Amino acid sequence: MVLAIHKLGDPVLRYPIPEGDIDQAELKKIIRDMTDTLREANGLGLAAPQVGILKRIFVYDMGEGPRVMLNPQVVWESDETEEDTEGCLSIPGGEVIVRRCTAVKVRALDELGEAREIEAEGLLARMFQHEIDHLNGLMIIDRTTEKDRRRLINDMIREDRE
Ligand code: ZN
Repeated sequence: MVLAIHKLGDPVLRYPIPEGDIDQAELKKIIRDMTDTLREANGLGLAAPQVGILKRIFVYDMGEGPRVMLNPQVVWESDETEEDTEGCLSIPGGEVIVRRCTAVKVRALDELGEAREIEAEGLLARMFQHEIDHLNGLMIIDRTTEKDRRRLINDMIREDRE
């Protein structure tokens, strides 16, 4: 089932979600709904709070089929950082510059509850950091330059008036 994506301004996006156990049957349904929603939205990644679910879960698809990360933790990050443009399904139409670590190592459980560790760099590392931010109540608007933040807010005000 495709779920509604919550947008910037919705308090559900600003809540740092504590780690917790998830019932297997509930998890299966959440994953199915989240992957349906990600596919429909044509996104790279989607975090649970973006669809109003207060669990530490995100799904992603880099073109190799949907993957799931449950209770993800960044266990290592590179000293090196880089800037690039980033969008967010919860901020339609707004791409901003965000500085991120160029590489990270993430530990998480997969959909079967198996522990996995993934080393990522480039776009995958950027997406992991973006989605884990969502689980901590953070969004790209918190990570961007003052100039881009102002532009994004002005765009939203203009859209509201129209
Ligand atoms: Zn996002």
